[in-house]
Amino acid sequence: MSYQHILSKIPKIDRLLQDQSIQLFLTQYPRARVVNVLRSELQSLRNEILQNESRFESSPELLEYPTTLKRLVTALDLQLRPRASRCINATGVVLHTGLGRAPLSSAAQDALQQVAGGFALVEYEIESGARGDRHTIVEEMLIQLTGAEAAAVVNNNAAATFLILNTLSQGKQCVVSRGELVTIGGSFRIPDIMRESGALMVEVGTTNKTNIRDYAQAINEYTGLLLKVHTSNYRIMGFHEDVPLEQLVELGVQYQLPVLHDLGSGSLVDLSRYGLVKEPLVRESIDAGADIVSFSGDKLIGGPQSGIIVGKKEFIARIKANQVARTLRCGKLTFAALEATLQLFFDEAKLLKQHRVMQMLTQSETKIRNRANKLKRMLAKIVERNGLVDVQRSSAEVGGGSLATVSLPTSVVALYLQNLHVDELAKQLRLSQPSIIPRVQQGQVFLDMFTVQDDELHFIVNALRNIIDKLENTADE
Ligand SMILES: *Cc1c(COP(=O)(O)O)cnc(C)c1O
Repeated sequence: MSYQHILSKIPKIDRLLQDQSIQLFLTQYPRARVVNVLRSELQSLRNEILQNESRFESSPELLEYPTTLKRLVTALDLQLRPRASRCINATGVVLHTGLGRAPLSSAAQDALQQVAGGFALVEYEIESGARGDRHTIVEEMLIQLTGAEAAAVVNNNAAATFLILNTLSQGKQCVVSRGELVTIGGSFRIPDIMRESGALMVEVGTTNKTNIRDYAQAINEYTGLLLKVHTSNYRIMGFHEDVPLEQLVELGVQYQLPVLHDLGSGSLVDLSRYGLVKEPLVRESIDAGADIVSFSGDKLIGGPQSGIIVGKKEFIARIKANQVARTLRCGKLTFAALEATLQLFFDEAKLLKQHRVMQMLTQSETKIRNRANKLKRMLAKIVERNGLVDVQRSSAEVGGGSLATVSLPTSVVALYLQNLHVDELAKQLRLSQPSIIPRVQQGQVFLDMFTVQDDELHFIVNALRNIIDKLENTADE
């Protein structure tokens, strides 16, 4: 068989577009996108043939129309489905950065709904009709919740740190302990953000021990800022000493240098009251005298992605006036959701009931266990003789670099299917719609019920039903 002859077996786009299974995509997605996927997938197929002609020669069934069609439908499904779509987080990591961090309360969802389709008062003074300042939308609440004098909001905490360093320490030295040069996630590293901001990093102390004299000795006429970073995602145990914020503030006062506390998560409520390990409170940093404190809006605050800056008026004013602030500003969706989220912190009962992150963190073990048992019962009916479903105890985590050393007791549903490798089962779950994101650990697929809501269980059930149907169909073929 000649190469040309093999290639001639590849169906033409026009014919494909007539096919019922392709037309299904045309009803949902623009024709140009459908055609684009078909073109590129057929090109990949041509390349494969080119690279391994003999394989296609010896197995002509590889190019039979139904086989090619199946491949194209898979590609269309994968490439055209909405990318930033809802998924079910069965990983047991509450603030999962890859999964968009904090789920929002119904109040925040309503606020988003209100502004999404219309115009919104983002920078507008309704009394005077004059141009306003978007930071003021949540400033009053942040002042009340933290005790700070003023506040600003930017795109995320990395942006907040960058902006503060750029405003207060560009071309000047910023003193930081070697024990606090953290990496957060894949891309936030204190030394890098420092360099990019134009601040000149001066490291003091050692990895496990830094004292106040180390800072004092580093101060000179070029110093612009003293920085303390909350080592949110790890702990140093054993022979260890760092300088309390209060002492650093004293030093700052003595030399008239501002002190920045990058809190990372930053909590507005004392989590130890709910049996969790305490994460530093923003208010405590303000009370200790920090001039500026920064933290994420979508970690323990449980709001939309944002970076919150609170502190002394004079510094916040300079930060807001920095041209760079314009490049890091948030839009109406962020402000609407953040405003509604912060409001919950004024009413503890509401907070525990409606704030999704607080709700998850404070849920009882029994509740999680019941959810796991319920899912087990639902799945067992489907799995029947095809595999095993089992409830096990395990530990979940807060994630997002918050309460790093804390493990939260949870129950997981362990899932095992005959004739389907663990990795393939996990993949099939991820490819379901909505995506189910499990935890794969010790060669097992776990569905952690810490991060799954009761009203999401049916998605998992449907997904598994489809996976098993597919398994049985391929077995029949
Ligand atoms: C998470 C974190 C950041 C980055 O915050 P993002 O909101 O993810 O940009 C910075 N510093 C610390 C200490 C953090 O924990």
